[in-house]
Amino acid sequence: MAVDDIISRLKRFGADSIKREDGVSGIDVEDDARALVNDLERYPHAFVLACIVDRQTKSDIAWSLPHAIREAASGFEFDKLLGLQTRVWVSVLRPSGHRLAAEMERLLPAAIRHIGDRYGGDASRIWATGSSGAAVARRFLAFDGVGPKISNMAVNILIRDFGIHLTRPMPDIAVDTHVLRVFERLGLLGRLDHSQLRSTQGKQQLRLQLRARELNPEWPGELDWPAWLVGKTWCHAGRAPECHECHMRSLCPREGVSSIQRQAQKTPAGE
Ligand code: SF4
Repeated sequence: MAVDDIISRLKRFGADSIKREDGVSGIDVEDDARALVNDLERYPHAFVLACIVDRQTKSDIAWSLPHAIREAASGFEFDKLLGLQTRVWVSVLRPSGHRLAAEMERLLPAAIRHIGDRYGGDASRIWATGSSGAAVARRFLAFDGVGPKISNMAVNILIRDFGIHLTRPMPDIAVDTHVLRVFERLGLLGRLDHSQLRSTQGKQQLRLQLRARELNPEWPGELDWPAWLVGKTWCHAGRAPECHECHMRSLCPREGVSSIQRQAQKTPAGE
């Protein structure tokens, strides 16, 4: 099956599955929390803080945290957060269930200071009109605790879910375990079998990023949402994929899937 057909279908699936009016896609949070992170006009720093905490935790915990901070601080104005006492950050983050809560207690106040120092308290200047996608990703990378995955994710969300117009070069794919698995099974990226390399995983992630640039040079990051959604919905990691339900089923070569299915048949239910 032609790779072009697979890419076209992935892109169409991604476009069809977002609802702009809902803002950030793929999160399941209460209405107040959603409204806050979607309010780029009044509280652009809420979006930035949610992106920073969206690491090693459930996305629903991450995207609810700005609202929890607002409740504890009795407001979310930038100056209020700038002067927020450490004990308030701790009172929200410590019981949040975030695996890196202690680290976030330091990173979030640091992010607010960075927005104050670098952007005069207006985080929307990170994605100022006329910026390229690459420049915005670089600006996200300047936040302590933000790596390539989060920086690309943040910019891809701004473009995809908020319709922020950025110029080329556009952001890369946000390398993620679901995305990598789906690329491999769709036959878009060969698996690596390098027994001599300790860095095989990192190398495969870099290959994924480069492959997305090859396949969709006008916006490599466009592929991460549909691939992530296919992975989360049907193309499972710990159990057999649900190929019969999958949107990609008629095009997918199912690379490596038969061995997973054989393994699943051998394993008694409940194990
Ligand atoms: S058809 Fe199966 S292997 Fe291919 S992407 Fe869908 S779930 Fe994964």
